Formats: sequence, structure tokens, C-alpha cells
Amino acid sequence: MTDRHLSFEFFPPKTPEGRDKLRATQRQLARFQPEFFSVTYGAGGSTREHTRDIVLEIQQSGSCATPHLSFGGDSKESVLALLQGYKDEGLKRIVALRGDLPSGMGGMAQLVYANQLVAFIREHFGDTFELLVACYPEIHPEAESYDRDIYWLGQKFQAGANRAITQYFYNPDAYFYYLEQCQKAGIDQPIIPGIMPIINFQNLVRFSDNCGADIPRWIRQRLQQFGDDSASVKAFGLDVVTALCETLLAGGAPGLHFYTMNQADTCATLCRNLGFAER
Ligand code: FAD
Repeated sequence: MTDRHLSFEFFPPKTPEGRDKLRATQRQLARFQPEFFSVTYGAGGSTREHTRDIVLEIQQSGSCATPHLSFGGDSKESVLALLQGYKDEGLKRIVALRGDLPSGMGGMAQLVYANQLVAFIREHFGDTFELLVACYPEIHPEAESYDRDIYWLGQKFQAGANRAITQYFYNPDAYFYYLEQCQKAGIDQPIIPGIMPIINFQNLVRFSDNCGADIPRWIRQRLQQFGDDSASVKAFGLDVVTALCETLLAGGAPGLHFYTMNQADTCATLCRNLGFAER
């Protein structure tokens, strides 16, 4: 089944060991021939060079790489230079985001909304890049309301975005209801579910508290009970996330985008469970 979208997201590691591990992770996941590997961009441009270096290395390895990008506190000139570099290297796609300011930078810099970044990229680079944007089936934590958050997603598409990737969620109804509401608002571009494998309970709680993703009570209770028993956490996580992905794909989701946390094994098992072909 090759018509389902598949992509994997990495973050730029801070150490040479982390970088080596990421190379091995990418090699392992490349067997599933994803449409692209995306690489996150640190708030305020903090990973600018790391993101670029990893993206270029992935691209040179023969896979498609997609950098995430936000203005953060950067100048127009430096964002243009980064984009020009990506164009020169033949990159075809960007994930365009507002991002969040790192703590301590509040008030020092103006956040540029994602619809403004999309418009900026289209103004300066035309159709050079396919542009993906973020969206939130459980609604962005700063949104004025459910409808306003969908309105701003529509504005990202109006500005020239092509597809969206969702924040992760564990309740498929949140995604299907969101799709319906988007369609009612005139949005018919593909919305790819972002999938967070369950590997470590403490980390999952920390991320979810930060980004406003809901961990349903029954999942939270089950994981809490496993405590330090990481084998049981992983086994339960695989069951839950496999079932979630099956429901999403059966319900018409265009494919899946995995938040890998730079780890290959769980995502590889999920892909096998879901019948993604392996080279
Ligand atoms: P926007 O779409 O700009 O929305 C931000 C908020 O403002 C929303 O509440 C929206 O309703 C509202 N809004 C939108 N436009 C306007 C406007 N013009 N005027 C007024 N209000 C508006 N973070 C990183 O730091 N690095 C990454 O690499 C990264 N990758 C991500 C990838 C995905 C797939 C996802 C889902 C998230 C990612 N994030 C990343 C997190 C993201 O940057 C944060 O969630 C951030 O708070 C919002 O970014 P956005 O692009 O969705 O913002």
C-alpha cells in the first residue's frame, strides 16, 4: 500500500552521539520509503545551523528532507538567506510555523504567525516549495476559540499552504470532528494526523502539558500503573497507537506523520503493524 502518506519527524540532537544515533534511526526508517523526513527548528532560531546540516545530510543520503521553519526573533534577511540555501540545495518542501519564543525572550521579539510566514515565502519564492503547516484537532492552547483556530488554519491555506500536519492526539473522534468542521469552513486540503508513539510516560506527560495535547484518562491511568516497567509501557503504547492509526486510516486519513523522538524501533514496529511496505 504505497498511496498512504508516510513521514517521520526528527529533532536536531545536541551531541555527536545523538547525531550518530539519528543517522542510524534514519537509515532504519528509510526502509519504509517515507515521502520525507522533517527536522524541527528550535524556538528563536536556536537550532538554525543544526536543522540545516541535518536536513542537507538526509537529502544527500538519497531521502527527501523537509526543514521546519519559523521567524522566531530572526530578521527577514536571515530567513531569506536560509530559504535561498534550501532552494539552492534542491529542497522541495518546508513546514512553516509560528513557533514559540524560548522562555526569557518574551517581549524581546515579535512572533510572526504562520499564515504570515507562508505569505512571506510565497512572495519571495513563488511555488518553489510545497508548504506544510501545523494544525490542532484539540485546538491550539492560545486560540481565542475553536472556530477562530480553524479560521486561522484557513488563512494559512489562503496564504498558499498546501497541506497540514496535526498536533498529536489519542482520541480519533477529535480528528474526525475537526475534519468536519474544517470542511464546513471551506478547507479541503489534506490534513495528515501527527502520531506520537508512547515510549516514556513522564516525557509524554511533560510534552502534552506543554502543547495542550490530551492524554485520555484511561491511558494515563494504565501508564501510571506500569511505573518503571518500560516493557509494559511500550507494549501497551504499541497496542493503543496501532489501534489509533488503524482507525484514522480506515476513516479516511490521508496517511501518517510520526513524531519519532529520534527513535526508530517503535515507529518501525508501528509501520509494520500497519502494513507499510518495507524495502
Ligand atoms: P499559528 O498558526 O501562527 O497559530 C498560533 C496561535 O495564534 C493559534 O492559537 C491561532 O489560533 C492564532 N493565530 C494564528 N494566526 C493568527 C493571526 N494572524 N492573528 C492572530 N492570531 C492568530 N515548534 C517549534 O518550535 N519548532 C518546530 O519545528 C515545530 N514543529 C511543529 C510541527 C507540527 C506538525 C506541529 C503541530 C507543531 C510544531 N511546533 C513546532 C509547535 C508550534 O510551533 C507551536 O504549537 C506554536 O505555538 C504555534 O505554531 P503555529 O505555526 O501553529 O502557529
